Amino acid sequence: MRYLFRDADIITLDENSAVPRSSSLVVNGPRIVYVGNEPPPIPFDRVIDCAGKIIMPGLVNAHTHTPMALLRGMSDDCSLEDWLSRVIWPVESALTKGDIACGTLLAAAEMLAYGTVSFSDMYRHSDTVAETVATTKMKANICESITNGEDSGIGRLERVRESIRMIDRWNGWGDGLIRCDTSIQSIFQTTPALWEFIAALAGEKGVGVHIHLGETKDERENCEKRYGKTPTRLLYDAGVLKNRVVAVHGTYLDGADIEILAGCGAHIVHDPASNLKTCCATARLKPFLDKGINVALGTDGVCSNNSGDLFATMRQTALLQKAFENDPAWMTANQTLRLAVAGGWASQGRAGESGVIAAGKDADLIILNGEHPGLWPNYDPVTTAVYAAQGGHVETVMVRGEILYNKGEYLTIDMEKLRHDVSQFARKARSRVWY
Ligand SMILES: [Zn+2]
Repeated sequence: MRYLFRDADIITLDENSAVPRSSSLVVNGPRIVYVGNEPPPIPFDRVIDCAGKIIMPGLVNAHTHTPMALLRGMSDDCSLEDWLSRVIWPVESALTKGDIACGTLLAAAEMLAYGTVSFSDMYRHSDTVAETVATTKMKANICESITNGEDSGIGRLERVRESIRMIDRWNGWGDGLIRCDTSIQSIFQTTPALWEFIAALAGEKGVGVHIHLGETKDERENCEKRYGKTPTRLLYDAGVLKNRVVAVHGTYLDGADIEILAGCGAHIVHDPASNLKTCCATARLKPFLDKGINVALGTDGVCSNNSGDLFATMRQTALLQKAFENDPAWMTANQTLRLAVAGGWASQGRAGESGVIAAGKDADLIILNGEHPGLWPNYDPVTTAVYAAQGGHVETVMVRGEILYNKGEYLTIDMEKLRHDVSQFARKARSRVWY
């Protein structure tokens, strides 16, 4: 399929080229083939008039737990510990594979409507998650969430075996639409033998390691009490950081931890909404960025957010980081958007394939609705996108040259069935008095 998008304000995020406003974009098959103000005189299958609209790279949600979308609103306004032990863990233990598939699809539908084209997911039954995501044609890095209780028999743990099965079956599926990583759920839910096992597994399979790191003060203090080292130092000593590591939260890291992570090329994912909602504090990003660490943005699971809107995350990030540094010129709109796009792709190990609107790149792009008065006047498309836009302003979403969402219509998701399945789950949840 050959598309011409005409007369758009295009945010390219391409440092090598400046495209004038009201330009054109040509997509041929999975790739962008032209950006500029004189489109090639060739026939197109579809011409889309974008006068007054913004075309921009699709966003990357670098950390979420998709099936938890079903738990949105089930438990709010309580501490992280209370939230996890009283509600979330008991409910999660009862989720069926059908529930997992339904929650995954719900989160995917929400993210698509909000302009997310790729996401990184960490959850149980990851084979079911991958199978479901494949039907949506979105991009995703998927990992099994791995925990363990004792140091022996690591290779026999069901979650470790599921991680290996999932990687073998899905890594690279759809010409790389789906990629797989492995994980360490968190230091406090795992043991040293698991860290070493995962370090070796990631190296052998050539995949990344996703981990919640430095989320709470307790995690750090208990770790130092038990092992005499910080969580980051333990990961380094176990060899985990030799791999592409995606460290989520990074709130309680000291200068030495940051040096280690920078030296190992680790990535950090910032999830301000879930941090703020559970009062876990949230990270200052300047120390990471000053050391050259790649930072990406995530929503975290929708039941601790309660939204999969990465536009909201961008706004929260910019405002919080300005306040932290007491500097309105810090964390500019441009810088923030780069975290949500380039930062996300890099954390997924996909830096070369997407993230800029330029010839040769995958056509992973979104269009903002120029008819919405909330986006008028549009003096600067980047500041409009970061400070004024919300996920609901997204009109069209294309992933690798295929339109997956357009003006409320989903091309790969049966929304009627999804709505029915979600309401069935909610009825079941209420009847069991899970919350
Ligand atoms: Zn998380």
